[in-house]
Amino acid sequence: MAGILVTNSEGTPGVGRTAEMLAAGAGGLDAIEAGIRLVEADTSIRTVGRGGWPNLLGEVELDAAMIDGNTFRSGAVGALKGFLHPITIARQVLEQLPHEMLVGEGAARFAREIGAATSDNLIPDSERVWREWFAANVSEEDREKWPDVPLADLCQQAIDPEKGMDTTVFLSLDEQAEIMAGVSTSGWAWKYPGRLGDSPIIGAGCYADSRFGAAACTGAGEMTIRAGTSRAIVLYMKMGLSLEKAVDEAIDDLRQLRGGLIQRVTIHAIDKTGAHRVVAVNATEQLTYWLWREGDDAPHAEPVELVAL
Ligand code: ASP
Repeated sequence: MAGILVTNSEGTPGVGRTAEMLAAGAGGLDAIEAGIRLVEADTSIRTVGRGGWPNLLGEVELDAAMIDGNTFRSGAVGALKGFLHPITIARQVLEQLPHEMLVGEGAARFAREIGAATSDNLIPDSERVWREWFAANVSEEDREKWPDVPLADLCQQAIDPEKGMDTTVFLSLDEQAEIMAGVSTSGWAWKYPGRLGDSPIIGAGCYADSRFGAAACTGAGEMTIRAGTSRAIVLYMKMGLSLEKAVDEAIDDLRQLRGGLIQRVTIHAIDKTGAHRVVAVNATEQLTYWLWREGDDAPHAEPVELVAL
């Protein structure tokens, strides 16, 4: 077993910090939380935390989750508004509550209760793009009644926002041979208010089991929720499949989905031996991810394997 850290390219602001902490013997949950906090606070990452894209109403709603692969305790928050570090609030759900997930006003209430840092997450550039969209797409009549208008048709545009969607995902196997995962996102730009993606859904957006491995997904959360992708990969490994084959099976599961918003997904997976695989399904460009292995001086970027459905 050799320690390993895999993050996607959105993890850039935090991957170095997480790797340093793992190299110094920190536990995976602490190291992942510290790294994701840096991503959430970095406004150049437009799909995570402050600087993330807003929903249809121009409000930034954030989702995040962590899972401890030893105890299977998880903590998730969804559709959270007004806080800088959803990953820390998710961690505290894991640490303090007899629940696994809080959403919306309840998540915000808990965040206030633990003294979490507040933040205006809609940065001026996101507001500008949203206002341009609003001006071009919302009818005169609806503008007068806004926001009390039907949003169902407008939310079809969440399929093709200006800058799309993404998430940051972190998977670690630490010095204690413990496997952990954490994810954080603003979800799809122009999503229906209250929409949860896969990130806060344990088993869809991420899963970890220190006996076998971990997986986390980015891309169309609607797909990985339907296929239970992250849990499936770990379960396939439990049933004896190699990491390689487990990911192949999960891709085959995605291939079976019919109807709905079939788009792109990137799967990140590690196993207990320190092996890993990162595959993008239906990607329109070459993607990279960050890899750090015990003994490496620093994380380095690797090309993502591309597969078409
Ligand atoms: N999976 C995220 C979601 O569906 C978005 C993404 O990673 O692209 O909210």
